[in-house]
Amino acid sequence: MANIHSFESLAALDGKGLRYAVFFTGCPLRCVYCHNPDTWHKSSTDMSADELFRKIKRYKPYFKNGGGVTFSGGEPLLNAEFINEISPMLKAEGIGYCLDTSGSVELTDAVKTALDNSDMIILDIKFADKENYEKYTLGDFSMPLEIAKYCTAKGKTLWLRTVVVPGINDSADDMKKYAAYVKENGISFEKYELLAFHTMGFFKYEQLGIENKLKNTPALSKHRLDELQKILDGELNVTA
Ligand code: SF4
Repeated sequence: MANIHSFESLAALDGKGLRYAVFFTGCPLRCVYCHNPDTWHKSSTDMSADELFRKIKRYKPYFKNGGGVTFSGGEPLLNAEFINEISPMLKAEGIGYCLDTSGSVELTDAVKTALDNSDMIILDIKFADKENYEKYTLGDFSMPLEIAKYCTAKGKTLWLRTVVVPGINDSADDMKKYAAYVKENGISFEKYELLAFHTMGFFKYEQLGIENKLKNTPALSKHRLDELQKILDGELNVTA
């Protein structure tokens, strides 16, 4: 069984083609900029692999052009064994899955299998240095790097993502640090996308009675995001 927060039908983000996104509850991190703090704790929806498979299968006709399921969260790899249970069912139907992960889990055999069987992985590069990673996510800096190196060694399709927050990681120097992190660690990726910090999840903090440490931080503008993406692409020798 797995505890599920919510579903999103036919999203065009979070992977290739049209996606059916499954958001698991539970996350080992507490990112200061999280816009889904409502996934941190359990919901009332528990599902077996068989139940979830039957739900996903209904969307099969839409999974053309590389579409499929995206397991997200929270942290989907906390449910690696559950994903490994549903994976053969999906495979038998020709449905692939993408993992949208923070990489903040131990690289156990179950996690390796879940990564191995995925079509692609979207991995957060939250901060390029230990100090900021620990300060702003409360996580273990070494874990996502292990996941990135494993995916690279296995030749997996890897998309990297970084949320850019005004006043925290929105300078040109920050972009240089992210690029250096990727290059120095030999991480092989297909796409590296910056995402703008936004304030649309602020109401959740109020509803849940959780302190929002960024309540006075504005959203990052599209203009600044584009500027930073260009800097990052230039550092990584990526052509648009
Ligand atoms: S990893 Fe994602 S869900 Fe977890 S705290 Fe960070 S932003 Fe929120």
